[in-house]
Amino acid sequence: MERLFVRVERLSKGLIFDCRMCGQCILHSTGMTCPMTCPKNLRNGPCGGVRPDGHCEVVPAMPCVWMQAWERSKQMSMYGKAILQVQPPLNRSLQGTSAWVNDLNGVAQKTPAGWEQ
Ligand code: SF4
Repeated sequence: MERLFVRVERLSKGLIFDCRMCGQCILHSTGMTCPMTCPKNLRNGPCGGVRPDGHCEVVPAMPCVWMQAWERSKQMSMYGKAILQVQPPLNRSLQGTSAWVNDLNGVAQKTPAGWEQ
């Protein structure tokens, strides 16, 4: 059953959000912009290398994912302030699993030992 979820999630969110299947979705906190499309996979805002034109320092042709996330967050009435929340470290062992399933069974909400917000 989980494999079906993975397939549907990969297809639907891949098409709409360019989802990379991290397994711990934070789209609602990033203006529906997938943070994993950032070449550095940053989950807490931009690096210090954003170019003056707002593009990425790693891929100059690409707009900074975090600049987009910030702008799009401002358009979201319900989760607009969620971008200010500090995200815990990503659990890389969830890569390729379904964030939907991980949300339902609580795995996505588990934070590493010692993590405090
Ligand atoms: S599940 Fe992870 S990789 Fe996929 S859209 Fe959400 S944050 Fe991005």
